[in-house]
Amino acid sequence: MQGGIRFNSIGSELRKQFGRRTVKLSIDAGFTCPNRDGTCGYGGCAFCSGDGSGELASHIESDSLMLRQSVSESISEQISLLSDKWPDAAYIAYFQSHTNTYAPVPVLRRLYYEALDDPRISGIAIATRPDCLGPEVLDLLEEVNRDHFMWVELGLQTIHPDTSEAMGIGYTLDVYDRAVNDLISRGIRVVTHLILGLPGETQDMMLESVRYVCSQPIYGIKLHLMNVVKTSRLSEIMPDYVPFASIEDYVSLVIRCLEIIPENITIHRLTGDVPRRLLIAPEWSYRKRTILNMINSELARMDTHQGAALRSDPAL
Ligand code: SF4
Repeated sequence: MQGGIRFNSIGSELRKQFGRRTVKLSIDAGFTCPNRDGTCGYGGCAFCSGDGSGELASHIESDSLMLRQSVSESISEQISLLSDKWPDAAYIAYFQSHTNTYAPVPVLRRLYYEALDDPRISGIAIATRPDCLGPEVLDLLEEVNRDHFMWVELGLQTIHPDTSEAMGIGYTLDVYDRAVNDLISRGIRVVTHLILGLPGETQDMMLESVRYVCSQPIYGIKLHLMNVVKTSRLSEIMPDYVPFASIEDYVSLVIRCLEIIPENITIHRLTGDVPRRLLIAPEWSYRKRTILNMINSELARMDTHQGAALRSDPAL
């Protein structure tokens, strides 16, 4: 990588795309999740906080399509809060909470376009499960993608079937593969979520997951630090589980991950993001800025960067 840049952050990529700072607005459009409502399972993934990883989104009720705020209201409220700090920013509407393709297509269409019709919105990001991308949903996404900047986020978390089953994720790797193929063949950018530190996984297993997802032409990757949160099933079944012994251990693993991620893949996340009030372990996880600073310092100290190991060992 050039100019002292050590990884291809989505922030830099969006600045290139839109010519200015670009901020994601977290939208909770009131979706639920098939792994909670009984369609696929009850109780959700063991690590799920219950609000679908949308702690920072701006609504409360999440069991139905009943909203405290409309999509438009949520966008306006967040922009008014951010505009003093970043008056010239571009905005991406990020449908974050729960499964954002899990509703009848006319409902999805209305919600997505409610965001996209706002002239302040430059693009859309949609987080979902790979098993919620039927043909009609894919047609809608393809249509949206034709005229708007868009990516779709898939929560894979791990490629290892035993972990996936133990965590109750509810779909298999071939479902993820099919979703990636369906989206990419329609020209849609894919961002894959992995969790580092799932119970029972060694660092080699986590690296295998990274290698696997990066062997496909995805647009981006999110590496989540495993957080045990108070409202998760994991906090009941494994109350003493601590994913990493120290920040240093975590930082060292993230560096190894970055070194095997091709340079063209955008990096969307390298930590977790859980409010301190919900966090059980690791207790240092809420220190997001510290973790990111340590990752940057360690990359500089080691004089390494994203994709560095791929140059030295093409087999990786
Ligand atoms: S798929 Fe997402 S929202 Fe649904 S239970 Fe799992 S983590 Fe929670």
